[in-house]
Amino acid sequence: MPRDADIAYNLADVRRRLEAAAHRVGRNPADITLVAVSKTFGPELIRAAVVAGQRVFGENRVQEGLVKAGTLADLDLTWHLIGHLQSNKARKTIPAFQWIESVDSLPLLQKLDGAAVEAGVRRSILIQVDLALEATKHGASGDEVLALVSAAASAAALELRGLMVVPPLPEHPEDSRPWFRQLVALRDSLLARGIPPERLSELSMGMSQDFEVAVEEGA
Ligand SMILES: *Cc1c(COP(=O)(O)O)cnc(C)c1O
Repeated sequence: MPRDADIAYNLADVRRRLEAAAHRVGRNPADITLVAVSKTFGPELIRAAVVAGQRVFGENRVQEGLVKAGTLADLDLTWHLIGHLQSNKARKTIPAFQWIESVDSLPLLQKLDGAAVEAGVRRSILIQVDLALEATKHGASGDEVLALVSAAASAAALELRGLMVVPPLPEHPEDSRPWFRQLVALRDSLLARGIPPERLSELSMGMSQDFEVAVEEGA
């Protein structure tokens, strides 16, 4: 496990690399959200990251996220669910997570919307796209995405903010670039069909190995 000092150092290093990548392609780093994935890390290390200036965290399991969001409720944090979500857990997800990045089916979208209405809150969602059609991966196929985007437009308490992709594990960071470009192309094709740009402004892509490539491609 890293120490507090490592967290601050590593975070500064990631931010520096993120800014450099943004500048390489003429983007403003302030337009990019860094989601710190805190899965498997305990609340004390998350606190260390908060002290170092990080406010947005990603968890891939609902239960683990619920516990941490509860433990750290004294802090003003934004939690993103990035892992696969079964629709029977939609109700549990809504209180703790402000963003749900892994919406990949109509039943899940409807359950989340119902739960958010019931709780009297609004939530931001991303549609997870499975570009590689890997048997082991979750996500909507390119064809299903349009139906999901249209359904999200009539949701009562969910706000569609964009798309998310988890490409096949890259051997080299450059391996991910074609997948990131495909997600951008999919977003552009949805814009061409008249989907309002503010519904598709966020592209969640890139992990530890390939986030600089992702930033260059519009993450
Ligand atoms: C774990 C995880 C990440 C982050 O992986 P890192 O290598 O820690 O950057 C991103 N997305 C999903 C869906 C994950 O489960």
